[in-house]
Amino acid sequence: MKRSLLLGGIFAAGALTMTVAGSQTPAAPRAIDMQKLKDNLYVLTSSTPGNAATFSGGNVAIFITDGGVTLVDTKLAGWGQAVLDKIKTVTNKPVTTIINTHTHGDHTGNNGFFGASVEIIAHENTKTNMEKMDAFKGDNAKFLPKKTYKDKMTVGSGKDRIDLYYFGAGHTSGDTFVVFPALRILHTGDMFAWKDGPLCDRNNGGSCVAFPQTLSKVIASIKEVDTVIPGHSPMQKPQDLQEYQRFTAYLLAYAEEAMKSGKSVDAATAAFSVDRYVGYKKERVKGAIQAVYDELKK
Ligand SMILES: [Zn+2]
Repeated sequence: MKRSLLLGGIFAAGALTMTVAGSQTPAAPRAIDMQKLKDNLYVLTSSTPGNAATFSGGNVAIFITDGGVTLVDTKLAGWGQAVLDKIKTVTNKPVTTIINTHTHGDHTGNNGFFGASVEIIAHENTKTNMEKMDAFKGDNAKFLPKKTYKDKMTVGSGKDRIDLYYFGAGHTSGDTFVVFPALRILHTGDMFAWKDGPLCDRNNGGSCVAFPQTLSKVIASIKEVDTVIPGHSPMQKPQDLQEYQRFTAYLLAYAEEAMKSGKSVDAATAAFSVDRYVGYKKERVKGAIQAVYDELKK
């Protein structure tokens, strides 16, 4: 129970909002903040997960191309109109493409809002994970990704080009890293959600054991970047992503050692310090340590 509470911060917020959205419109504020990164790229920012009244879902990138608007992620169900209202303040082009960084409802919740003619793209494992979600069953299966890839895919060309990369398991089994090469911007989805323990969703193939290796591959492969859009935090720099990789590697090594020496998850969490990582929190460390224990027990 404790574990599901810790792991479930984000899911709980999503589940609550979606339950309510099914029957009536929640009496929550429908305002989303928007940040301009470039003339043709804006971010609909993410508020704190856990507050179901104001949590709209993950950071959404709005990329304005010659052919229309591409969205990276679509926030929680019920927030589609708020997303569209913001898009309309910066362009009158229609949304033509959606890229889902991964399966979770706070990133895929408004795929259907933008209509069945929108092209939806995701990693092949994310499509498989999404097929298990109630939100994409029956008639709503038409809002699943139709275009998938395995290792790398390029969409568009020239200034409108987008590169999608997959480097292995981490937050889920299908996390996409989205690069806008002309803008030197990278959207990490929840592979870099916050400065805290990573959420490794083992039910969707996530792995806290693989997490640091996967981030290493990202850092080695994607170099032409100045700005990082994380899953649920303010904008970051490549150095912040590098630091996060070191943090996840440190956390993994710590958990492996603690398990070997027979420490309980609670004891290991209590003795874990984030002091050498400035600005880091410890709210999700227990979930990450638990995930490592569960994986290594197998
Ligand atoms: Zn997620």
